[in-house]
Amino acid sequence: MSKQPKTISFSIDPTHPGCVPGTLQLLDYVSDTVIYPDAAEIVMYMKTVAYVLSNSYHLHECFPCPLCPAIFAYATAQYSDGEWMWFGHTIHYVEHHHVLLPEEFVQRVRELNYRPRPTRREYVENARALQEKRHPPAE
Ligand SMILES: [Zn+2]
Repeated sequence: MSKQPKTISFSIDPTHPGCVPGTLQLLDYVSDTVIYPDAAEIVMYMKTVAYVLSNSYHLHECFPCPLCPAIFAYATAQYSDGEWMWFGHTIHYVEHHHVLLPEEFVQRVRELNYRPRPTRREYVENARALQEKRHPPAE
């Protein structure tokens, strides 16, 4: 990833010092009813992108959802498809609280037919191939 991905981030308190720039007020974006008829596919896309980074320098790794009794196990894991970046808890908001996502992101996911490029498998295979090129296995 050469350029900085655009961020999808929601918080009950976007002024919290741990929040990344551009964090949106969660309560303004959640809905009681389904927004996306293809929400399950969007969630699948968000869960299966190649780039996942676990990072807990500014937030606790586990914290409760402000909207339901769920505890986020990978709240601060960062997911990215190269263009956009989101956190583990954002996926929960999409899945369980019908959060409104940036239109540009939803369009992109639909254009890709919900298949991240590269897929995680392609990403791992490319990385492995590169590794073997650098360090050929001993015969
Ligand atoms: Zn929740």
